[in-house]
Amino acid sequence: MATVTFLKSAPRIDDLPEGNRPHVAFVGRSNVGKSALLNDLAGTKNLARVSSTPGRTQMVNLFDVDKKFFLVDLPGYGFASGSKAKRDTYSDLVRDYLWQAQQLKLVLLVIDSRLGLTDLDRDMLSYLESGKLPHLIIANKIDKLSRSEAVNLMRELQARHNVPVLSHSNVTGSGKGEIWHAIQTAISA
Ligand code: GDP
Repeated sequence: MATVTFLKSAPRIDDLPEGNRPHVAFVGRSNVGKSALLNDLAGTKNLARVSSTPGRTQMVNLFDVDKKFFLVDLPGYGFASGSKAKRDTYSDLVRDYLWQAQQLKLVLLVIDSRLGLTDLDRDMLSYLESGKLPHLIIANKIDKLSRSEAVNLMRELQARHNVPVLSHSNVTGSGKGEIWHAIQTAISA
């Protein structure tokens, strides 16, 4: 069992830790359940704050795993407050991080199973593809779908996108093992 601890919140790229430890980053819309997913992976309830105010945390949050690598929670995009320009894109911080993080081994694009891929998620996928960044999709909150809806969603995502698609539920804990496996595989590659 990995030990995950909060390291720091970085408001700027320059504040990221130096060194060559691998990074595994999480991106997705605000409210998609990224904090809850991180808590579930860490096996704790309060590692990452499960926010009631979407989009409040506009920082890069770093979590140490066994002093070997970092899980990196990037600011959520598409939150409903703030200017339209801000709402319709992901922040420069996210863009800069993805562009500059030399040790980035894997990006997990977390989507809401009820919504599927939104336009912003598609933009993010294109960005990851164009940067040749290894990535996969996590269909989160899968408990909100019926069994057949869940099967259909996974099939559709797998057919359309040339990347691994995993599912997760914070309510049932399903998917956690597969996600850890994908992370461990990526950092040891
Ligand atoms: P973040 O903004 O992406 O960090 O989202 P949060 O982790 O704060 O979660 C947003 C809301 O979704 C909270 O009310 C969570 O309780 C809920 N949530 C998160 N994950 C799940 C899940 O797997 N299933 C269900 N049903 N609700 C979830």
